[in-house]
Amino acid sequence: MSGGSEMESFKRGRRDVGLIDGYDPLDPMAPIGVRSRALEEPPDTLSLGPLKKIYLIWMVGGSCDGCTVAVAGGTHPRVEHLLAGIIPGLPRVELIHTVVSTEVGPEWTHNLFMAERGELDAPYVITWEGSIMDESIAAATGGYWMGLGEDPATGRQITSLEWLDRLAPGAAAIIAIGTCASWGGIPAAKGNVTNSMGMMDYLGRDYRSAFGVPIVNIPGCSPIGDNYLETAAAALLFLNGLAPLPEFDELGRPAWLFGETVHRHCPRAGYYEEGVFAEEYGDKECLVELGCWGPVVQCNIAERGMVDGHGGCMQVGGICIGCTMPGFPDKFSPIFEKSPGSMLSSTTSKITGGFIRRMRNMTRVDKNMTARWSADGAISSGWARSKTPPKGALKAFHKAYSTVQHSHEGGR
Ligand code: SF4
Repeated sequence: MSGGSEMESFKRGRRDVGLIDGYDPLDPMAPIGVRSRALEEPPDTLSLGPLKKIYLIWMVGGSCDGCTVAVAGGTHPRVEHLLAGIIPGLPRVELIHTVVSTEVGPEWTHNLFMAERGELDAPYVITWEGSIMDESIAAATGGYWMGLGEDPATGRQITSLEWLDRLAPGAAAIIAIGTCASWGGIPAAKGNVTNSMGMMDYLGRDYRSAFGVPIVNIPGCSPIGDNYLETAAAALLFLNGLAPLPEFDELGRPAWLFGETVHRHCPRAGYYEEGVFAEEYGDKECLVELGCWGPVVQCNIAERGMVDGHGGCMQVGGICIGCTMPGFPDKFSPIFEKSPGSMLSSTTSKITGGFIRRMRNMTRVDKNMTARWSADGAISSGWARSKTPPKGALKAFHKAYSTVQHSHEGGR
């Protein structure tokens, strides 16, 4: 923040509560856990539940930061609306994030010390992005994989994993975002020299948050930002006592987001059904013969799109590589090659779908005719070129079809 007027406006929205832990809460570079205490509470009209605010501690393991980028682009709800606390029923979210927080260094890690000591003035939720790498491997050579601040008393490097160990028991909930945090992802692929794993594997099946919630997983590489935001909003409504716990499947995925396969809602599914397949990228038909795994992958990218309903894998011409699935990437390799199962299904689809497609084409020709054109045997359109209504066997077929269609009216 720069400039006197900006500083003044920053201060105008705050109350003077004195120094906390030696920090001035009116200093924009103070830890957010300190600054937040000086903020005015949101209007009562928005505070429909007991939680006025909640801290979101976002930590990172073996990650590319793609999950952060995806969530920053989310729109339902928007991150900025959560941070501003303007969504009725939801507490204001105070974000403590390794990348986008304003404070850095000791001021940032001070938030974590406050959380561990129970000094934050509201519950905290942990969101973890990236694989959990086995620090014992790095420690054997005197190093570490993921460092996050130092112990102020000794200067000892603290790892992200140590923070997870220290903060997990007191968290209101833990959300693993992305396939790396959920299942291990690319860092846990064959070879896996870091012994990477997902949050569930690390904390174990018996883990429950302080509010009794098992680990929530929002997989995807990168995940759909709205999948995270919508789930977080639903969880916050639950924590605020305004809604039941949302439904999760046996792997901790939001059931309403990951209950269907990509294929069922894919915009190209009609081509699959009629046995028409793309031969190269750029073709508009079904991509299964180019290696698409959509028929078996649980993901809602086809109906939700990537950002605000736009984009998405098949929508922009890409195959589904199974990035939301626990078996990704090993069980979907070699990526971009046709899967063995698709040969059987696409061959079957070519036979049955090919027949159905031809039948539909015949019906479509008839349905593109007015009753007058059919009776006249000619189309009065200047665009019709040499097109004429069906004759001979085709005409007999349509007549028989129409008789069946109108059988409840006596075949007329
Ligand atoms: Fe199914 Fe993939 Fe074809 Fe879409 S492109 S219809 S998901 S196989």
